[in-house]
Amino acid sequence: MAEENLPTKGLFVSPELQQEFESSIDQLVSDLGYTVTLFFEPTASGCPNCSRGPDGASDGVYTDTNNPFALNGEFNIPFPEFAQCPVCKGSNKVEDESSQDYTALLKYNPKDIEFEATGRDPAQLVRTKMQVVAFSDIQRSVKARIEGEFYALIREPVKTGLQSRSHVRAWWQKLQ
Ligand SMILES: [Zn+2]
Repeated sequence: MAEENLPTKGLFVSPELQQEFESSIDQLVSDLGYTVTLFFEPTASGCPNCSRGPDGASDGVYTDTNNPFALNGEFNIPFPEFAQCPVCKGSNKVEDESSQDYTALLKYNPKDIEFEATGRDPAQLVRTKMQVVAFSDIQRSVKARIEGEFYALIREPVKTGLQSRSHVRAWWQKLQ
């Protein structure tokens, strides 16, 4: 991938220094970082608890033998024939909420952007710094859980680093 907007390489940034800088930040992230869970748009898939009728909705028949989940678990609840399936409520669809954990450095009340000008309360904001592999997951996330609170992304994440983009910064606002 093309590296954009990188500073001109100066005399004093040797490959060794760059390497040391990036591995120091990696070490900081893993030593001082917190787990940030990113959540993505739920994907709907067929209900394991009932069979599908011709219209795509539940046909009201309990799937006993090919339900892969344990009996009386969240996704395996027997019900009388032609009653409403208690798992999918008749839709034959269940939503899977997928998520991914990353380790991040946290900065509460970040001052690097003029958030007041946008009408946002900086006290409700947190900036995260993660390894750059998280970039696309941050972009597609619908919310993040940070220290037990839920947050929404408020602007495009920004890749940072010395001569290569090794980390990504993102800014989040607490959900009420
Ligand atoms: Zn169902």
